[in-house]
Order: sequence, then C-alpha cells, then structure tokens
Amino acid sequence: MTDEVLITGGALIDGTGSAPQPATDVLTRDDEIVAVGSDATTTASSDATRIDATGMTVMPGLVDAHVHCTFDDVISNDELFFHREPATAALVTGFNLIKLLRAGVTSALDPDTLFEMGPAVRDAVAAGVIDGPRLSVGVQALLTSVGGTAGRLIPDEGDVGYARVVNTPDEMVTWTRRHIKAGADWIKIHATGRIPNHAGELPVWTEDELRVVCDTAHDLDTPVSAHCRDAASTERAARAGVDLILHGSFMDEAGLEAIVDSGAALCPTFTFLANLADYGEAVGAGVGMQDIFRGEIDATGEMMRRAFDAGVPILCGSESGFALTPYGHWHAREMEVFVEVLGLTPLEAITCATANGGIAMRRPGELGLVAEGCVADLLVVDGDPAQDVTVLADRRNLHAVISRGRPVDLDRPWPERGPLPDEHVAGWAQSVLTREAAGLDGPVPGSGS
Ligand SMILES: [Zn+2]
Repeated sequence: MTDEVLITGGALIDGTGSAPQPATDVLTRDDEIVAVGSDATTTASSDATRIDATGMTVMPGLVDAHVHCTFDDVISNDELFFHREPATAALVTGFNLIKLLRAGVTSALDPDTLFEMGPAVRDAVAAGVIDGPRLSVGVQALLTSVGGTAGRLIPDEGDVGYARVVNTPDEMVTWTRRHIKAGADWIKIHATGRIPNHAGELPVWTEDELRVVCDTAHDLDTPVSAHCRDAASTERAARAGVDLILHGSFMDEAGLEAIVDSGAALCPTFTFLANLADYGEAVGAGVGMQDIFRGEIDATGEMMRRAFDAGVPILCGSESGFALTPYGHWHAREMEVFVEVLGLTPLEAITCATANGGIAMRRPGELGLVAEGCVADLLVVDGDPAQDVTVLADRRNLHAVISRGRPVDLDRPWPERGPLPDEHVAGWAQSVLTREAAGLDGPVPGSGS
C-alpha cells in the first residue's frame, strides 16, 4: 500500500532560487517526489490524496537548521540546567515537536540535546512513535572548562544538561567518538564562552583543539558544527575544518576568507537576537540589551551578505526552544531578517530555508527541493512568498503541510498544556523587602532613597 499525494494547479517554488513556475502539478509517492509538471496528473493513481492548490504556492517544506527541541521554551539558564529531568524532558519534547510540523518545518537540525537524548528523539520520530519533522541531531555540545553561554553554571568537568566538558585533547577525541557511537549526526562545539569580567563572548578553544575534534569526527564520517560568537572563533573554526558555523557573529575579513577557503556553511541564527531586540519588551526580556543585539545583527549582517555573494551556503535557523523563540512561532522569521538586513530577495531567502537546509540534514540535493527523486516534504501556501516572504510566518497561510509523503493534520487544536511541577525557577520576590519598601520607615539618610 503506497501513499500518493497529488497537488494540482499551484505556482511552484522549487527551492533552487528559480522564478516560480505557474500552475505546476506535483505528485509524491511515499517519501519521494515522483513527478513534477504534466506527468504528475497522468501518473497519479485513482486513490491518490488530491489537493487543489489553484491560486496558491507549492514549495519545499522549511528546514530549520538550528533548533533545540529538548529545551521546552526555557526562560533562563538556571531553569535549563537545574530544572529539567530526563523523563519529563523526553515526554515534553514529544509534545513540542508537532508544533514545528504545524508551522511548516518538515526538517530540523538540533545540534545539542539535554541528557544526550538527540538520537532517541530522532529515531522515535522516524519510527512514528511521536510526531515531528525529520531530525538531524547532535548529542551534547562539547565545552572546555571555561564553559559556554552559561558561564559559571558549567562544571569544571563532567556534564550538565546539554553540555559535556572536555579539558584535554584525549577527552576531545574520546567524547567525539562516544557521541558518534551514540548516534550523533553532528558533533557540536561551543567555540566561544562568557567570563565574568568581559562583555560578549571570547574564544574558549584553540585552533588545534578544534582540529582534534574535526579530525576525529571526519574520520568517522561525521560533520562538526560550532557556536562562534566572535570573530576569532569563527576564523579558527573554519581553519580547523568545522563544517557548519552557527552565529559567526562579528565575522571579520580573515574569518570570511577562511570560510570561503574551507567550504564551510553558515547559519547566522539572527532570529533570537531580532526577537529580543524588536519584541523583548513585550515579555520583559533584555531590558537595555535591545541596542546591543541589534548592533550584533547589523555588524554581522554585512559580512553575511558578502559570504552569500562569495557563494558560501547560508542556512536559516531560529534557535527555537527558548522563551524568546518558542516552538512553532518564529521558524520563518530568519528569512525576513535575511531580506531586511542582508538584502536577499525572498526567493534567495527561501533557498536558504529549503535547499541549503539539505546540508544541515546531510542530504544536499535531495532535501529542500521540489524535483523528481527528492524527499516528499512540501508546503501549500495561501499567498506568494516569492513576493512577500512574511506570508510564511503566519500559520494560517499554510493550506497544507506534507511531511514524508503524508498530509499533516492542521485542523487539530494547537497543543496546549498546564505547568509541570518545578519546571520554572520560582523567585521569592521581584525585589528586596526592606523596611522602606514595606512603607514602614521613611527615607534613611545615606541610603539614596
Ligand atoms: Zn543554539
């Protein structure tokens, strides 16, 4: 018994960046696109599921190349590292993944996961145990003892949450091999980290250390991604052989040159920064940080544009999994930022979110494209994303989502749930209850109030 889906009459965006083709039919059989154009209708069997896309757009499903599907829209690092436990985190991951599909994301790369659960989640989706997009996964992120974005919350050795601390070249080799043995599609390195007396992030791996991981992983047919939020780390990562550079913040001339030479891909992941800069106030986030984050986007955007012009593959990532980037809401926003800040055309931005995503899924040329022989992940969009890419951001414009050859049920209610015990950090108070705050005493001399 095969599953066939015949989509008729829609304008086709094929993911390559070519202009939309008017009224082009597409036929899928199981997880494969078997016909595009007039063949589709004549080849379709009589019991194929038929979708009339007249007046609408047919395009590849979105690939989100930077998500954290096990983080559960987390509010803070305290919560992420100290308020999660494995069984609940796994169940909640299953609850959240369907939101990606419902938003048109049919593939996603999750580079580091809580409690090493990435391969188990990927395999559960593939086997139909839980619903979700097809996944490419890492196990944990490799950090040096300096830590990453969570600074001193990271222990000097061992692991916590998504982080595995490796202090010597021997440990770097050992944990790269163990992650690959556990089923990692990608190895992830946190190449920058925060220290208390420095603004921004600093490189916390030497180029030689990065190379140890890359050489070990590449020997085992596994690519490497690295979180790089400063210029030096971006250059070092490219020179060391990192295949996918996440963020690439403040990339400089030397970094760009190294990336062009090495053939690495870039996933700038502006969405988290842009959400904080533009909408953070609405949820009480990042007060005073708006200008800093906007500055990081503008400084990095110019170099990303040059990378794009030099032929470097640019991927779209949303960093979904944080309170500022909840699942199912912001996966298309990176394309908007690419249009606004990098000056890409909507079609170029769509290629970043589809065909280029094939790199993240380790299936370039067969995923993120609408062509015979490619995987059967498709969207039918009520609107014209080639003119206005923002139509993809509103789920109500998704007429159909086809994932692995099957239509996703878009009519079910959006998943909602109640709070779980201790999942959020509970403060005793927002500020300190002095006698003055309680209104008992007047201003005390010398207290400044
Ligand atoms: Zn991330």
